[in-house]
Amino acid sequence: MKTIAVIKQRGNRLTKPRKAISTILLQTKFPLTIKEIMNQLKKNDVYTDTVSIYRTVKLLLNLRCIQQIEFGDGKKRFEAVKENNHHHHIICDKCGKVEEIFFKDENYFALQLKKKTQYKIHRHSLEFFGLCQNCY
Ligand SMILES: [Zn+2]
Ligand SMILES: [Zn+2]
Repeated sequence: MKTIAVIKQRGNRLTKPRKAISTILLQTKFPLTIKEIMNQLKKNDVYTDTVSIYRTVKLLLNLRCIQQIEFGDGKKRFEAVKENNHHHHIICDKCGKVEEIFFKDENYFALQLKKKTQYKIHRHSLEFFGLCQNCY
């Protein structure tokens, strides 16, 4: 697994919580809050305090193994960065379900925008909100 290799490569110790948090984020199909990460850790019988989770998340962010996402509800969520997996999200306003969405024509769109604005664009974020099939 790439994330775990990166942690070791940079001379960081691969502690049990670090390994567990990396694995959880890699295996979950939607971004998790710190609280959700903590619940998953408990399910896997890994016990650690909130401070350690925050520290690990910060380390993984610095190593660019994970990225932070905000859905406008004031909560920070984190998801694993995987190669060739650039995607956006669609979120149900009622039940909070999150799904990944992929676009085909993004490169063209980004190029047009670059031409139009003369910006050197670093990143973008695009999320959709509505009601899922179960909620309307
Ligand atoms: Zn995109
Ligand atoms: Zn829903």
